[in-house]
Amino acid sequence: MTKDAHISDLEKELQETKKQLAFYKDRCKKSESNERRLFHEVYQYKELIHSSTALITLLLGPDFVIDFANDAIRKVWGKGDQVTGKPLLEVLPELKGKEIEDYLNFVYQTGETFEAFEEPVEHIIDGEKVLYYFDFTYQAQYDLNGELVGIGVFAQDVTERAILNQKIKKNEKEFRELVNLMPHKISVANSLGETIFYNQAWLDYVGKSMNQFLDTNWTEVVHPDHTAEIEHIFSDFLPKGEDFKIELKLKSKTGDYLWHLCQVTAIKDEHGQVNSWISSSTEIQQLKEEEEKQEAFLKLVSHELKTPVTSIKGYIQLIQSMTGKENEQNKTLKPYLKRVEDQVERLIHLISEMLDLSRIEQNELELNKTEFDLNRLVEEAVEDICYTNQEVRINIHHEDEFQVLADRNRIEQVMLNFLTNAIKYSPENKHIDIRIFKRDKNSVGVKIKDHGLGISRKDRQHIFRRFFRVEGKNQDTYSGFGIGLYLSNEIIERHNGKIFVKSKVGEGSEFIFTLPLNQN
Ligand code: ADP
Repeated sequence: MTKDAHISDLEKELQETKKQLAFYKDRCKKSESNERRLFHEVYQYKELIHSSTALITLLLGPDFVIDFANDAIRKVWGKGDQVTGKPLLEVLPELKGKEIEDYLNFVYQTGETFEAFEEPVEHIIDGEKVLYYFDFTYQAQYDLNGELVGIGVFAQDVTERAILNQKIKKNEKEFRELVNLMPHKISVANSLGETIFYNQAWLDYVGKSMNQFLDTNWTEVVHPDHTAEIEHIFSDFLPKGEDFKIELKLKSKTGDYLWHLCQVTAIKDEHGQVNSWISSSTEIQQLKEEEEKQEAFLKLVSHELKTPVTSIKGYIQLIQSMTGKENEQNKTLKPYLKRVEDQVERLIHLISEMLDLSRIEQNELELNKTEFDLNRLVEEAVEDICYTNQEVRINIHHEDEFQVLADRNRIEQVMLNFLTNAIKYSPENKHIDIRIFKRDKNSVGVKIKDHGLGISRKDRQHIFRRFFRVEGKNQDTYSGFGIGLYLSNEIIERHNGKIFVKSKVGEGSEFIFTLPLNQN
């Protein structure tokens, strides 16, 4: 080889070595930056775990040596920051022999994950016992070769929630015990009316266990006589979310049906939506039997009184006609006779209301239907009323002429009752407006509007109940027994009509009754 050729080879070799040097320099730089990036990532993950509110620790080996414990878990342990590298039970001797130790051993031996909810754990912090509740997971940790090396602990401090839940559970238990001690039959139903709880009194009454009774439909213990009432509950009260009271005969374990008063209350959320229904049923069998006896007695007394009182009325009229002559003695007698006549009239009215009441109770109220002119009937009732109440002013507005097929005497009774009430409960303004109008293509309405005391919204719900009278001073001021509206309502319902009331306290009331029109 020539000298030049040799130099040229050496130069090439030098170039090659330079290239390689540049390549290795570049690789060095790259690996340096990779290492930095890796270090950065690890730092970030550690930071994330450290600042997490979840309690996290990594325990290695069969002694559960703390390899890593984040800030949150170290705070709960209360044993300071120098815990890494030490076995867990050395740091937390209070856990020795406790269930936590068993759970850890189980995961380490089986590799299975262990989960617990609201688990009570007692730690000792500064010598004081502190009770915590945790939701936690113990998860086996493996190395790159798939060898189980330790346990990852992921926990959440749920002490506040657990204490609240315990309080709720305690309250619920107390409520159940209380409800079970009550002699009333208490049940709870969901928003659809499906029962989800019966108290002991219910279970004792039907002779079934909770599950047996829940499996049957509660309507099965209701007497078949009440089918209409049950339909009413499902079609009206439940959909409207209204509280209601109902009297039902309920079947006992002996097969007897006993009367109960069932009061049902809707429990609503803040938006007024029904969440559940609570029902309380009280046995009223004895009360009902006494009521029946009283009714039979009233019926008997009313019957017995009717004849003598009617004949007293006849004699009074006879005496009145005998005192027709204008002399001193008759002048003194006449006002007294008038008073006696008025009182007897009241007595007769009361007796006939009592008789009607027992007829309704025993389903004996018969309707004697004929076709008649409703407008004329209203006019006659008004004339009668005005005859005995000279101070009253009544306007009648006939929108049209209406024929109805109904019991004329009964409808007159209803009309007189509305008019008497309108006068009685209007102590100052005795001005009454009546309107006879076509309500729809099949029915006619009669409206009686007064300008009297009015009836509050609360009382309006009850005025059609037997013996209901608005409480307060009015009750004593205005005579009555609270039967008139009950009878009127029964009479109108039996004619397939309806009664509506509108009223404002201090301004007056409007009573409307409707009747089907006679289509012939
Ligand atoms: P009563 O014999 O007590 O008048 P009703 O059954 O006719 O019995 O009426 C029941 C209750 O309804 C009455 O006691 C009264 O408080 C109230 N009421 C009825 N009609 C009127 C009215 N027009 N204005 C005010 N309150 C009325």
